[in-house]
Amino acid sequence: MEILFTQQELARRVTELARAIEADYQGKDLLLVGVLKGAVIFLADLMRHLSLPLAVDFMAVASYGAATKSSGVVRILKDLDTPLNARHVLLVEDIVDTGLTLRYLLDVLKARSPASLKTCVLLDKRERRQVEVPVDYCGFVIPDVFVVGYGLDYAENYRQLPYIAVFRAT
Ligand code: 5GP
Repeated sequence: MEILFTQQELARRVTELARAIEADYQGKDLLLVGVLKGAVIFLADLMRHLSLPLAVDFMAVASYGAATKSSGVVRILKDLDTPLNARHVLLVEDIVDTGLTLRYLLDVLKARSPASLKTCVLLDKRERRQVEVPVDYCGFVIPDVFVVGYGLDYAENYRQLPYIAVFRAT
């Protein structure tokens, strides 16, 4: 598999993102919301570089079958344990592709009246976007390729790779 970002490149970029987040959330009650499963490695690395008081919570979502995916309707498999009112929420995602999943999650979370709501995305396939979504902190913009590793899977495999690689089924 062709490596797109090495372990060192990921570590450096995650540290940079953490510095930017730290600067913006000084004195604020930060809640990191990780989207399972893909964001777990990114979130775990990111939070270890944040010298801020923070809490973390998780959501798990799945798209309704392939036919309805374009509708952007996702199913919540696991909801947050924490109420969001008056929290500064940072939604942490592995990758944004069409934007439909992130759009849906933002709408769900916004309805719960957080003090603020921003997004932190490791990988952004910007050219694939179907709906506008704000990406407040972006690791890397990537082309339209299917990537695995660093939490991202192909049929539940490859999540444990310490780097990000381009997956091509052969
Ligand atoms: P969107 O709703 O933005 O189209 O899709 C977001 C979801 O699609 C991601 O959370 C991820 O699960 C999946 N996805 C999109 N592109 C890739 C990719 O290149 N590799 C992997 N492993 N998952 C992807």
